[in-house]
Order: sequence, then C-alpha cells, then structure tokens
Amino acid sequence: MKYYSTSKQVTGADLKTAVVKGLAEDKGLFMPDEIRPLPQAFFDTIDTLTFQEIAYNVAQAFFGEDVEPAALKQIVYDTLNFDVPLVHVNNNIYSLELFHGPTLAFKDVGGRFMSRLLGYFVQKQEKEQVNVLVATSGDTGSAVANGFLGVDGIHVYVLYPKGLVSPIQECQFTTLGKNITALEVNGTFDDCQRLVKSAFMDEELNSRMKLTSANSINVARFLPQSFYYFYAYAQLKKINPDKAGNIVISVPSGNFGNITAGLFAKKMGLPIKHFIAANNRNDVFLEYLQTGEYNPRPSIATIANAMDVGDPSNFARILDLYGNSHADISKEISGVSYTDEQIAETLKRCYEKTGYLLDPHGACGYQALSDLLKADETGIFLETAHPAKFKDTVENILGESIDIPQKLQEFMKGEKQSLPMEKDFDSFKNYLITRI
Ligand SMILES: *Cc1c(COP(=O)(O)O)cnc(C)c1O
Repeated sequence: MKYYSTSKQVTGADLKTAVVKGLAEDKGLFMPDEIRPLPQAFFDTIDTLTFQEIAYNVAQAFFGEDVEPAALKQIVYDTLNFDVPLVHVNNNIYSLELFHGPTLAFKDVGGRFMSRLLGYFVQKQEKEQVNVLVATSGDTGSAVANGFLGVDGIHVYVLYPKGLVSPIQECQFTTLGKNITALEVNGTFDDCQRLVKSAFMDEELNSRMKLTSANSINVARFLPQSFYYFYAYAQLKKINPDKAGNIVISVPSGNFGNITAGLFAKKMGLPIKHFIAANNRNDVFLEYLQTGEYNPRPSIATIANAMDVGDPSNFARILDLYGNSHADISKEISGVSYTDEQIAETLKRCYEKTGYLLDPHGACGYQALSDLLKADETGIFLETAHPAKFKDTVENILGESIDIPQKLQEFMKGEKQSLPMEKDFDSFKNYLITRI
C-alpha cells in the first residue's frame, strides 16, 4: 500500500516511510491510497470471531502487503492482549470500554501497535537509533511510552504541558526511565504539539537524527484504532442482532484520531449509521459543522483534559476523506459541546441513575447519545479512559472516593523524573542536539 499526503505534494510513500516520518514533508498527514472494503462474508460471521481475529482481518487490508503475515499477526495479537468489552449502560446506550489496557486508556491500542510495527522496521534496517517525539495532553504519553519501554534502538521523548495533566497521568510516563525521557513544557498541549511538528520540519535536526512522531498523525497509531469499531459491532450483533442495524457511535474527541479511524471502518463496509463528535468547550469542529468555517484557536483547559485541543490534527484527514465537502461531512458526523458543569452533571447523574461510572471524556460521549439518539437507534459511546485516571476530578464531582485499579497503583509508586523545557523551539532544538 502506498500513502499520499493530505497536502498533496507527497505521494507514493511506502508504509515504512509513512511510519518513520510520521508527518509528510509537505506538512500534510499520510493517507492510504486505498481503503479496501472487507468482504460481506466477514461481516456475516464477524460475531463468531475473537477481537484478535477481527483485528487481524482489518490489519491485513491496510498492512498486509507491507508486513509478512506471521509478523503482522504477532503484532496484532501482542497489541490486543486485553479485551474491549461492550457494556450496556441504560436504555439503548452501550459503552465500549477501551480502558482495559496497561495504561487504562484507548491510546494503548495505537501506542502498542505502533511501537511493535516501528520495532519491526527498525530491526530490519541498520542500527541507527530512532527517536520518537510525542506530545501528550495526558494519555498518549503513557500509552506510547509504555508501548516502547525497553525496545532496542528506539528512544522516546514525551512532551507534556506543565501542570495540565492529572498527577496519575503524569506518573505513567515520568517514572519509567530507561529509553523514555519526559519533558515538562512550560506551556499548553498545543505548544507541545507545535514543538514536535517544528522538529519534523527542521532540516538540520532531521539530517542529524532520525525523528519520528507517535502522535495520532502517525498512520501506525491511528489506523489500528479502527479495529475496535468492528469488534463493537460484532459484540452488539452477538448480544442483540436486531439492534445491530441502526448504530450511532459517539466519540469523545480531541485531535480527532479516534473518530477518523471509525470513519475509515465505515468506508471499509462497517454498517454504522452515524457518528457524533463529542467535545468539551474546545469545539472548533462543532463550529465548522455549523458554519462551514474552520477557525483553529488556542485550547481551553477543561476537566476532560485529553480533549483540550484547539486545532485538531486529524481534521485534515476528515476533509480529505470527504473531498472537502462540508455537506458530506455534516451528513456523516454531528457535533456537540459540553461545559465542565455539564460534564460533571452527566457524570454524577449517570452514576446515581445507572451505577455506571463514567470518566469526564466518556461523559461527553454518553451525554451526546442521551441528547441526540432517536428511539429506533442503538448508541455506542467510546469510554476512552478509566475514571480513576481522573481520580481527583471524579471524586470531587461524586463527593465520594473511588477505587484505583492495581495497575494504576503500581505506576504511582515510581519516582517522577522529568526535564523542564521552555515552549520556544530553539530551547527544544538545542536540547535535542545535545542528545546526539
Ligand atoms: C486522547 C483522548 C481523547 C481524544 O482522542 P482523539 O483521538 O485525540 O480525538 C479522548 N479521551 C481520552 C481519555 C483521551 O485520552
């Protein structure tokens, strides 16, 4: 499979180039030349397959030409060594729990897949160290860092906004050591993202060190996220085949990588009727749906902090996927935006009414379905992280303490190691150069 850039200057890149480069030279995002529909027989029997089997089928459609079958199967099976259960919440609303991986957020799927695929390519080539740069608003850093921890030939730099990620999120990437370095940036997530993008555009830096990005701009991170949309459908079909015909999926969105993977799944034939992009107050996408104008702006801090993005990277992919047609995009995706007060209210009310504990991001997804779902539709929201990752926020809202899963407690025992970093590019560049 070849990849082209959304900015159209770069075409014909192979998978390895797309994965190692992350961002294309013309600053666009890589897109596969083809999105191949899966055969009807696959959908007919999907409810008899395991998550790993489903994912391997989907993975073959994207990566089958570029990675040997046995290696690809191993990458997929190793990545998905945890379940993604579909759980009934109330009425016709289900939660797709994406938080059963090692760092308790959906980003484990893309992070683990990408680290394994990059490891596969690095092993096949000469021994030059690959440096992964990743900007995080909270959960990406931990998923990517844990995915790459101890992988030979790869060093990971996690850039995160000082004071803007929860203490539990922070300890998941600052306590690891080994080949993981955490950089605490005196700025916002958008500043972190800008530093990473600037590093890729910097000729001198790129001539001196091999840089790659693990943000959702990387095809190896974002495409595997389509796996669980298929699995959600399979589970619903199994639980209740009558309900599998009219599915609306609500995706708590920040950089829009997760929802874009869902749109890809639909293009591959997955019968999803409609998508909802659920936002916090950072709602440039909703504004785009309403006005046709895209006006990126600085992000605002909210209690759903992993969605505090003012200029979602993957918007370029959505535009490309629908040929820049505002009408087509609006037909496929609805938008909503919730304030912190509304998110808190939803979280509390859902817990009291149903006993289901949402995290602040999932709360946006759930509320969107509560507000928009029609009687004959079945709604699935992506529960993107475990509520305990946002312990203080959730406990404040509920007025009671919540349990911390063992996996998280282990991270909290480690010692924080991070380097302070200013938000101007020169500081970052100079630091990287000292690391060569
Ligand atoms: C990253 C993240 C999101 C946003 O996902 P995108 O792919 O960036 O849209 C939502 N919820 C949680 C918990 C996250 O970590």
